[in-house]
Amino acid sequence: MKAMTFEGPGQKSWSTVPDPKIQDPQDAIVRIDAVTICGTDLHILKGDVPEVTSGRILGHEAVGTVVEVGQSVSEVAVDDRVLVSCISGCGRCAYCRRGMYGQCLRGGGWVLGHLIDGVQAEYARIPFADHGLHKLPSSVSNEQALLLADILPTSYEVGVRNGRVEPGDVVAIVGAGPIGLAAALTARLYSPRTVVIIDPAESRLKRAREDFGADITIDPTTDDAQSVIHELTDGLGADVTIEAVGIPETFEQCVDLVRPGGHVANVGVHGKPATLHLESIWIKNLTITTGLVDTYSTPTLLRLLAEGRINTGGFVTHRFELDDFAKAYDVFSDAAGNDAVKVALSHG
Ligand SMILES: [Zn+2]
Ligand SMILES: [Zn+2]
Repeated sequence: MKAMTFEGPGQKSWSTVPDPKIQDPQDAIVRIDAVTICGTDLHILKGDVPEVTSGRILGHEAVGTVVEVGQSVSEVAVDDRVLVSCISGCGRCAYCRRGMYGQCLRGGGWVLGHLIDGVQAEYARIPFADHGLHKLPSSVSNEQALLLADILPTSYEVGVRNGRVEPGDVVAIVGAGPIGLAAALTARLYSPRTVVIIDPAESRLKRAREDFGADITIDPTTDDAQSVIHELTDGLGADVTIEAVGIPETFEQCVDLVRPGGHVANVGVHGKPATLHLESIWIKNLTITTGLVDTYSTPTLLRLLAEGRINTGGFVTHRFELDDFAKAYDVFSDAAGNDAVKVALSHG
């Protein structure tokens, strides 16, 4: 089969590799019907994730059709159309039993396209298939379901739920990439008073207002986010701030913008230390959370999507044939320049 492989920092290849085979009775083999590229894949390609070794098939966000199941798989069967979750879970270890599948101790967690071969391929082996695959109702398209593989549960669990968004809150989201936009969309489920998004790319701010329910957008190169938030909250600060970039400056900005007693929810993937100004925040009763998605919310989000309660129509901006990974990576690598949010690759 063909697959997109990591070939060392800065190098990737759409090449012929052996077909995946069942290795464990809990595995399933899935034919990939739709797949996308994540910001994390770009980090891997830069060489930021040293656990990913040369030859590894990339990708952890896909939708497909089950073509083979191991002996102990019981929840999915051949020909089922399924969402492939970015997180696998054994279901039995100490963390899985707490619903923290992202921290699975027995070969689960984020493994696809990381520690084992991923889904940017014609076929993929999915471990713990009963847990990591979700059967799709006919009312949800492949393209809609693709957004449930990672970005919607990540932004919802690690941003909105960890941030404890409540009705009437002012929620400030720093970063209007796919995760920030998904946080705006899923924060709406809790009826916040105002959703503010801060990002320097005007095209993304426009999308945030038009397609993702942001009430106020701020370009930090021309506007002062602090004074906008203060005006909006009678000087208190935001109830919840959500970090969706992953650099020290934006994390520190989230801590600056939150009110005493508020929540700072970090979603961004950080590569460098950020400064925590305890000398000024020790007195502010803040809650700061971090996290990797567990995907405990995926069944709920899938139901909301099937019933039209979440509109994901604004996410996929560029569509490609499944074998056109080179072009799709080119577009996504310069997402701001190409006005791209998510790219989707599928069979014509
Ligand atoms: Zn991802
Ligand atoms: Zn586990």
